[in-house]
Amino acid sequence: MRKNSFLLLLLSFFFCAACASPAGEFHAGIELVTPTPPQAALEIATPKPTPEPTPKPTATPSPTAEPMPTPVPTLDPDGKYIALTYDDGPHETYTARLLDILRENEVRVTFFVQGKQLQSDEAAELLRQAALDGHEIGSHTWSHIDMKKESEAKMRSELSRTSNRIEEITGTRPLLMRPPYGNHNGTARKVARELGLALILWTVDTKDWSSNNAAKILQEVRRAAKPNGIILLHDIKKASVDATESIILWLKEQGYTILTVGELLALRGEPEPGIVYRSGAPVG
Ligand SMILES: [Zn+2]
Repeated sequence: MRKNSFLLLLLSFFFCAACASPAGEFHAGIELVTPTPPQAALEIATPKPTPEPTPKPTATPSPTAEPMPTPVPTLDPDGKYIALTYDDGPHETYTARLLDILRENEVRVTFFVQGKQLQSDEAAELLRQAALDGHEIGSHTWSHIDMKKESEAKMRSELSRTSNRIEEITGTRPLLMRPPYGNHNGTARKVARELGLALILWTVDTKDWSSNNAAKILQEVRRAAKPNGIILLHDIKKASVDATESIILWLKEQGYTILTVGELLALRGEPEPGIVYRSGAPVG
């Protein structure tokens, strides 16, 4: 059968080669049925070291896929709690490393992110991962504005735009915002209230921005940490990420349980939009 069809095709080749039939098409047809000439057959028979497709390692479930089981602490209003907060990110390198450290230490924190940092797919993926790991995501305005100096319209657009972007990425609209530099005024509080955001300050300024030194950052935490406190750090600073594990270990040694800001505030009732909190309790 095979031989016959080969002959037939060979004949049609001579026939067609003379006519104007497009050679390419014809040639393609012949290749499909042509028995391999002996030489070629030999070559084929010789076991060629055909490069075996390297078995791809079965896709190890990347940590991005699995949400960290969120330990739900049994909270006692008189317990020893404290919150770690990280501002200004996400940062493609430092935030990614910080998420690993937090996961390894089973600690959840609060991130106050700038909307303008969330424009790339990579940044969105980092934020999604942070949310999946159980971290809390708050707003730090779109472009780090000083809310004492801006118009009401500008504040509103900076906060709405950031909340929209956070919700678009994580599926959850933020309830907390941290005014850059801790600056706010009546208008800022009014806008925040209308947009459903409580204003979160801090009790411990680690001064990571100026020291850039992991040991000094830890020293500030040791000096100023107290129950219901909120610790200010920045995940765009390498030193802050470097200091994180030792801060966590020290706080645990002191008997602290680390909560998100939302959890810390919830010990005394839900945080109220437009109200300023410096610690677990409102300040104005
Ligand atoms: Zn900031």
